[in-house]
Amino acid sequence: MNTLTDLSREDAAARERLTDALPQMIARTRDWSVHNTGSFNVAGLKAFAPKLADAFAELDAAVRLEAGPAFETVGANGQVSEMETGPIIRAEARPSAPVQIILSGHYDTVFPPGQFETIRDLGDGRINGPGMADMKGGLCVMLEALKAFEAGPMKDRIGYRIVMTPDEEIGNFASNGALTEAARSGALIGMTYEPGMETGAMSGGRKGSAVYDIVLHGRAAHAGRAKEEGRSALLAAAELVMGLEGLNGQRDGVTFNAGAIEGGAPVNIVPDLAVVRFGARAPDAEAAAWADTEVRRLFARATAHDGIHGHLHGGFYRPPKPRNGAQQALFDAVHATGRAIGLDLEFVDTGGVCEGNNIFAAGVPNVDTLGVRGGRIHSNEEFVITESFTERALLSALILNRLADGRLNARAIKDLMGR
Ligand SMILES: [Zn+2]
Repeated sequence: MNTLTDLSREDAAARERLTDALPQMIARTRDWSVHNTGSFNVAGLKAFAPKLADAFAELDAAVRLEAGPAFETVGANGQVSEMETGPIIRAEARPSAPVQIILSGHYDTVFPPGQFETIRDLGDGRINGPGMADMKGGLCVMLEALKAFEAGPMKDRIGYRIVMTPDEEIGNFASNGALTEAARSGALIGMTYEPGMETGAMSGGRKGSAVYDIVLHGRAAHAGRAKEEGRSALLAAAELVMGLEGLNGQRDGVTFNAGAIEGGAPVNIVPDLAVVRFGARAPDAEAAAWADTEVRRLFARATAHDGIHGHLHGGFYRPPKPRNGAQQALFDAVHATGRAIGLDLEFVDTGGVCEGNNIFAAGVPNVDTLGVRGGRIHSNEEFVITESFTERALLSALILNRLADGRLNARAIKDLMGR
């Protein structure tokens, strides 16, 4: 019997196939990355989604596009409005197979139209382009790994649900429901395709992330003739920000960051509107609950001032994904799998968040940086390391082989979630 660190016959077949597929994976990712799919470019997202769905139709799976629900945003005027985004792409295969998994990834990028749209071969084994690493390259790797697995003899042992989202970079507010539902449909583990670091390092424990918008209303008045009749929303906002920043350092691993105060008024008017936008990060569920309680306390204090009232929107939209027993067991298994192809994969804890948080919150242990290796993501210097397409597709194919032949016991890992 082979161990996790050995290559089986099926592993060797996947290696040959994915080595040959390298030029095609690079070409496909370049082709996908020229489409602008900035998170707010709804027309671009809608135009690209069918192309992505067509590519995934190469799998032995039912692929469909689904409109996500509208979600709330708070404007600079303090008003709440509904926002829509592109379609969610879902695929489902073999729902009665013994091992069920969820795979996920996003097809939006952080780049609005016109900001960063060219792809340049840097000539040193790297390609610069929007989404080449984060994460159209990752989606390409997911697809090729699944195709390689389905070409082998163990196809019937694994069923999967894939969720590809149009809104990860802005918080998965429209697609969290789809991710949660797919995760809860019997998935034992999750595989998400955020880029690995340039060195190959992957993400370990992740903090949880909150976003809040607090709208504060005061009372306008002429600053010269009747200053005393005014109630400054800006002053209340400033006090709130001081309070928030003062929470930093009060509890291990919990941070608050005020990003913006919007609103205000001309200097001769007492300002009657301010919108405070801020984020919080917390390492575990108890810390997140503490952070949320503190935010609500500060909000209550701000709105207790005479003439000030307000609204609080938001919260921990991505719960923490701590390195619990199930996560560590999965990381160990992925590490051992990497050893079979000469990789020494390291898992590094991070304050960053992704769909892996949402899938963990739905009760499914997961590894979320299975995508290509790259760097400088979220900047115009984003690049992918071309040789990593084969390496990372092969890593996923080997994980699938191990799940199928029992070398990797997904059920045993999931059972550790409750401990
Ligand atoms: Zn990403």
